[in-house]
Formats: sequence, structure tokens, C-alpha cells
Amino acid sequence: MQGLCDYHTHTPLCRHAEGSVEEYVAAALAAGLEEYGIADHAPVHVAVDDDWRMREEQFPQYLEWYRRACELAQGRLQVRLGLECDWLGAHPDNLAKLERISAMADWDYLIGSVHYLGKDFDFDNPAHLSLWAKLDVEQTWQAYWQEYTRMAASGMFDIMGHADLIKKFNYYPGGDLRRFYEPALQAIVDSGACIELNTAGWYKDCKEAYPSRQFLQMAAEAGVGLVISSDAHAPAELGRSFPRAVQLARECGFTSCARFDKRTCRSVCLPID
Ligand code: ZN
Ligand code: FE
Ligand code: FE
Ligand code: ZN
Repeated sequence: MQGLCDYHTHTPLCRHAEGSVEEYVAAALAAGLEEYGIADHAPVHVAVDDDWRMREEQFPQYLEWYRRACELAQGRLQVRLGLECDWLGAHPDNLAKLERISAMADWDYLIGSVHYLGKDFDFDNPAHLSLWAKLDVEQTWQAYWQEYTRMAASGMFDIMGHADLIKKFNYYPGGDLRRFYEPALQAIVDSGACIELNTAGWYKDCKEAYPSRQFLQMAAEAGVGLVISSDAHAPAELGRSFPRAVQLARECGFTSCARFDKRTCRSVCLPID
């Protein structure tokens, strides 16, 4: 789909994505993207057996991926440099690590994501799927949204990653979910960050984009900026389901989407299909 940017894409450096930089650039061009934003998992060691990200010593290879993508794109495609950072709580040590990351390169944007509740529970890891049947879903959702709200309040990120990832395996608490969304959205509004409509959720057990339609409607009403992202871990996933995402965004009340350049945001019209 013409006129869109994909700002949440990975590289094989994170150890769970595939494809070459040539393949990603070719796929971005084939998908009609105007911008290809690279945002791999940040090189901050999280847990003892953490195998979900580049090593810090591989960081130069990450910059090289970006440089090579720019070279291959040659004016046909704008390439952006970002990173998907893990929010691990507001402990000063974590904040110091994030500060260090934000100084590591001249980023176009930083995405903040909650994948961990405590250091050892990466709740979205399929290896923990059996655990979910035994969890207190209400409590787990509460813990997730509390961290998500703190992440927004930190003001350290330009884009709030996959806002309701906690629904990935299709475990929902009862009642109106607004009680989780409202505080998070207030913190997002106060921080001035954008949210992403992440199409990967359509391909998970929850079969719903992140975040939900209700969250998107509330965000649009609150005037929050939006980017549409695939969270691609393979070249073929670049720009995946973007026409469907644009339609959903419009139905929820969005008329524009955001672009980033050196951590400055500007708004452009959503494409008309
Ligand atoms: Zn990943
Ligand atoms: Fe993520
Ligand atoms: Fe991601
Ligand atoms: Zn992600």
C-alpha cells in the first residue's frame, strides 16, 4: 500500500528473525512503503538465559545493516534508524540503561515495549503458554498495564509498542477493559508519544491487532498520534495487512499517521485506498 511507513521491523541479529538486508529493502519497495524503519530488540541483557537480542558487541553490525539499507534504497525509500527497547520497570538502573541506549546512536525514534513482568517472565514467549492456564489473568493484566503506564510516564520513548500484547494468547479478564486502558492512555497523552497499530496480533492466538479497537477509539478521541507497523521478523512480513490496518484506523477515528525523523514527529494524512 502506497504512502505508508513500517517502523517496527527486526533483523536476524536478534536471533529470532530471518532475511538479509537486501531482502528487506526489496520487500519494502515491493510493498510500496515510503519508509523502512529498522527497530530491532535493544542490546540490553535482560535475564540469565536471554537469547532474544543482539549482543552489545554486535551493535556496530546493526548500524552497518542500517548503512547498507540506505545504500540499497538509494532515494527510492527512506530508511529510518530505531530500536525496540524493553521496559523493565522504573528502577534507576533500568532508566540508566535506557539513557545509555538513547545516546548510542542518532535515532529517528525509540519504541518502548513491555515484554517482561519481572525479569524472568517474558509473558509473550510461547514457551510459557502452559503457564497461562494457571495464571490469575486479572492480576497479570493489572501488572502489565501498570508497567505500560509507567513506561509511558517515563517519557523515554517516541512510540509505544504493541499496547495490549498481554492478550497475545487470548486470555482476557472479565468486564470492561477500559479500566486498564484509561490510565495508560492518560500517561501516553501526557508524554506526547505515539502509539502503534501493530498488525502482528492478527497472526497470533488473539487474532486481533495490537491494540484493540476499543483502545484505538479511545486513543483517537484523545488525539494520540499513530503509526502502523508490522513487527516483521521476516522480509515477507513487511507492510503486512496494512490496508486492513488503515481501514481499522479510519473506523476508529484516525485521519493521520505520524512520521519520525531524528526523534521529531510530524503528522501526515492516512492514505486513501
Ligand atoms: Zn522479536
Ligand atoms: Fe515486541
Ligand atoms: Fe518487535
Ligand atoms: Zn514488538
